Amino acid sequence: MLKSYDRKQPVSDIVEEIGNTLKFMKGLGCKGFDCSAKSLDTLKKWGGNITSAEETLKSIRTDIGDCKRCTLCQKRTNIVFGAGDPKARLVFVGEGPGYAEDKSGEPFVGAAGKLLTKIIEAMKLTREQVYICNIIKCRPPGNRNPMPDEIKTCFPFLKRQLSVIKPDLICALGTFAAQTLLETKQPISRLRGHFHDYMGIRVMPTYHPAYLLRNANKKRDVWEDMKILIKEMQ
Ligand code: URA
Repeated sequence: MLKSYDRKQPVSDIVEEIGNTLKFMKGLGCKGFDCSAKSLDTLKKWGGNITSAEETLKSIRTDIGDCKRCTLCQKRTNIVFGAGDPKARLVFVGEGPGYAEDKSGEPFVGAAGKLLTKIIEAMKLTREQVYICNIIKCRPPGNRNPMPDEIKTCFPFLKRQLSVIKPDLICALGTFAAQTLLETKQPISRLRGHFHDYMGIRVMPTYHPAYLLRNANKKRDVWEDMKILIKEMQ
């Protein structure tokens, strides 16, 4: 920890600085520190993810620019960055843009998006109160699954968005979003229904709205998952 301090700084100054920080934290109601391996690991991941103290969603969008980092740029119409409240407590993460999203530049505006909007409204929220985004930002031709190299290139931008938004909760929509965020190969049927961890953020995986359009009998499960999220938000 001391490595990050200026070595020329007198030890007494460092001690005073630490004392002031502890007093400040006490003032915030802090009663101690969780130094478990899990917490330290989370802290390490957050630290490794910080690119700039000035980072904003706008600066991330600027960084992406007219992206040509992977071949999806050749067929896309618009980059679908994400939309909603930059300070949302709840972020929905989907797979990648489809036809309607590619045309409009907005996430989840096609048939699956309309169902997602209904789900959000049934939670007594609006699209403007949450943040909606995807693992990849450009439409794969013919809506095929994204390739590993496309995810490798694009996912860091979503990670940065999540670091800026700092939501309390993430709802991972479908196998793809859940498996990517949680770095697992477990099926969505096993992952859904309970919380997982992404960088200290609770993640609730659930079925993708497009899957619900084809399997209406799974709507009940999704609603059970949403009820858990609603409870956590109260
Ligand atoms: N499906 C997704 O996963 N994301 C969208 O934005 C639209 C459809």
